[in-house]
Amino acid sequence: MTYDALIIGGGLAGCSTAIQLARRGHQVLLAEQSTYPRHKLCGEFLSPEAQSSFRRLGVLDAVTETGARPIDQARITAPNGTSTEHALPDAALGLSRYELDRLLFQHACDAGAEGRTGTRVTSVQGTLSDGFTAMVDGEAVDARLVLGAYGRRSRLDRTLERPFLDQHTPYVGFKAHYAGPAAAALDATIELHSAPGGYCGLSPVENDRINVCWIGHVDALQESGGTPAGMLDESLRTNPALNERLEGLTRVSDQFEAVSQVPLMPKSRFAGGVCMIGDAAGMIAPLCGDGMAMALRTADLVSPLASDFLEGRRSTSAFRAAYRGEWSSTFGRRMWLGRWVHAAAFRTGAARLLVQSCRLLPPLAQWLIRNTRGHATVPPPAAGDR
Ligand SMILES: Cc1cc2nc3c(=O)[nH]c(=O)nc-3n(C[C@H](O)[C@H](O)[C@H](O)COP(=O)(O)OP(=O)(O)OC[C@H]3O[C@@H](n4cnc5c(N)ncnc54)[C@H](O)[C@@H]3O)c2cc1C
Repeated sequence: MTYDALIIGGGLAGCSTAIQLARRGHQVLLAEQSTYPRHKLCGEFLSPEAQSSFRRLGVLDAVTETGARPIDQARITAPNGTSTEHALPDAALGLSRYELDRLLFQHACDAGAEGRTGTRVTSVQGTLSDGFTAMVDGEAVDARLVLGAYGRRSRLDRTLERPFLDQHTPYVGFKAHYAGPAAAALDATIELHSAPGGYCGLSPVENDRINVCWIGHVDALQESGGTPAGMLDESLRTNPALNERLEGLTRVSDQFEAVSQVPLMPKSRFAGGVCMIGDAAGMIAPLCGDGMAMALRTADLVSPLASDFLEGRRSTSAFRAAYRGEWSSTFGRRMWLGRWVHAAAFRTGAARLLVQSCRLLPPLAQWLIRNTRGHATVPPPAAGDR
């Protein structure tokens, strides 16, 4: 059989696109290499725009019932512990990827997509004009359209010869869940602590747990013994505000989730004819806490365009041009600003200056918060999404 769309990766971008294309009546294969539920490295802070996407998908109630925690305050500290606090312009949510990805994958299957877990896609060949053949867990699968929703970095990027792989990226990331008396102080609050060699986010998630997640320079990891626990203790806890928080928390996850080579450089929207969505199309700096909302938003952008293409209402070139144009106008500014703030967070003096400036000039903080993310608009469900 020839599928209308093969979606590679069952994270947020992949599941949301699968839901939307299946509801429009397309034959969709959603291939995910892991199985659910599974822990995944992420700050687990869902910026307000994500709620618009959830509402549009009809899953907002399910997300809330799963235990998502409301978040309406942000506290940011410099490496010396100086802090600044601001209200978020709209309510955000905290929910683990353990729960969220499982929920979305289930909704994709309920919508009619064929979801396969434990299924890795190893190669894709073809063009948008002639269709594709992909190797899916050793089986050749034909599809008219292939969507790359496989996240920030995959072996497929090498197969597709994507230029961003030639650039070195020195960042590593870790996360674990914590619990304890300090969790109460983080009720409805996300904290972001800058420290020499990295920054660390603390965000409340379901079951009174705190997700502790940080991104660091690989040199800082090596200098602190090469382990995530070592980096947390030796490097990040030199920030007294973060140290105080962690003294009241105990790790409850069996192990740290880890990633290396976090790629924040620009990427292409198409590679070898494959249409990239979510992090595969471009990853925003983690401190913006907007990558998941963006992954969901790319799904909202691409789904109607892809559907038009599959139904012959949009040519290959019109599909490419429309997606590229919408992607750039929607995300271009926040990607640029995110890279700039990320770079500042890694420099002790710049981080201190930024936190002091936000303290003295709250409108600057509000401007930064607003412009490193989208807006929580609530679009009515499109006809094909009902
Ligand atoms: C340190 C750090 C902290 C972050 N904190 C936040 C935060 O607080 N808030 C926020 O919004 N964002 C955060 N992000 C970003 C966020 O995690 C991503 O933007 C988001 O997960 C992107 O979703 P996605 O669907 O594009 O990809 P992913 O969620 O990465 O999903 C990709 C899926 O594809 C699968 N896959 C990969 N290759 C294949 C293959 N060949 N075949 C089949 N399946 C495959 C993977 O198993 C995975 O399930 C953070 C990122 C980092 C590194």
